[in-house]
Amino acid sequence: MIIIGCSIEILSSLNHSRCYMKLFSALRRICVPLAIAAFAVPVYADDPVTVYSARQEHLIKPLFDRFTDETGIEVRYITDRAEPLLARLRAEGRNSPADLLITVDAGNLWQAGEAGVLRATESEQLMESIPEHLRDPENRWFGLSVRARTIFYSTERVDPEELSTYADLADPRWEGRLCLRTSNSVYNQSLVATMIATHGVEQTEEVVRGWVNNLAAPPFSNDTAQLEAIAAGQCDIGISNTYYYGRLLDKEPDLPVGLHWANQDAEGVHVNVSGAGITRHAKNPEGALQLLEWLASEEAQVEFGAANREYPANPNVEWDPLLQSWGEYEAAVINVAEAGRLQPQAVMLMDRAGWR
Ligand code: FE
Repeated sequence: MIIIGCSIEILSSLNHSRCYMKLFSALRRICVPLAIAAFAVPVYADDPVTVYSARQEHLIKPLFDRFTDETGIEVRYITDRAEPLLARLRAEGRNSPADLLITVDAGNLWQAGEAGVLRATESEQLMESIPEHLRDPENRWFGLSVRARTIFYSTERVDPEELSTYADLADPRWEGRLCLRTSNSVYNQSLVATMIATHGVEQTEEVVRGWVNNLAAPPFSNDTAQLEAIAAGQCDIGISNTYYYGRLLDKEPDLPVGLHWANQDAEGVHVNVSGAGITRHAKNPEGALQLLEWLASEEAQVEFGAANREYPANPNVEWDPLLQSWGEYEAAVINVAEAGRLQPQAVMLMDRAGWR
């Protein structure tokens, strides 16, 4: 097109006397805009947005569908675990089709930020929707749901009056009564990392060693198995994300397991996030921002967390009735990015303490 356009203009120019001047002017008028148009592929506001999501399909697809209904913007997505998605983004580099990364746990979000696959996003709406401690200090990612990791106990064998802090679970009176998930769980790594941030390495290590001494069984591969072990009498107490408890209660409302909000007289219960950030090489960053802002809005937040029994990150959104029934809690307001920053130290500490 450029060549044909230029040739016609040049041929007609040659019939005139000052043909070189006209030739130059014609080339500038016709070829430059065409060349710009040819090389800068325009992205229109309603182009599709491509999402890489570590959040499961059944949790995000209904929201994507609603977003498409409201805006006309199609959302294309793939889902996988957090690690392979990050590896894929890194490997694809500037050729990646992904515009938005949705992933779980601040540790994973932090790693994505450090790996350079996300871009800083300036958005007043996101600043207003998401509290400061639930987003990246450099604005590369924003929490979209809050997951609290707290203490669970047998309602048959434990008096909740006995419960207070995570550190107290290291007390010898819990010997042979504690269940934990494995230390390679990013949830436990984030918990220990924030304990390091608040209490220092030495004190945290002493607590973790106490936990390991109190174990009733080898660590479990997931939170649900741990809660079921409490219900079955294999142990009396454990530490789990609240949404696994919510899911179990949905199936078995009389589960003999209770929830205790940890550290309420101290720094507050450990919270983590699932969240999202716009990719560094997004082809449609405008569309990605529109989707991210929508996911953080009150309208979408009602569903985003509740679909998985998590808490909304947007504080203006009312909790669903099951979450309300567990009561209000004080959350530690330490920035969730600390969990990512201190994760390597946490992993080494857990290893030293013999937490498998
Ligand atoms: Fe989970």
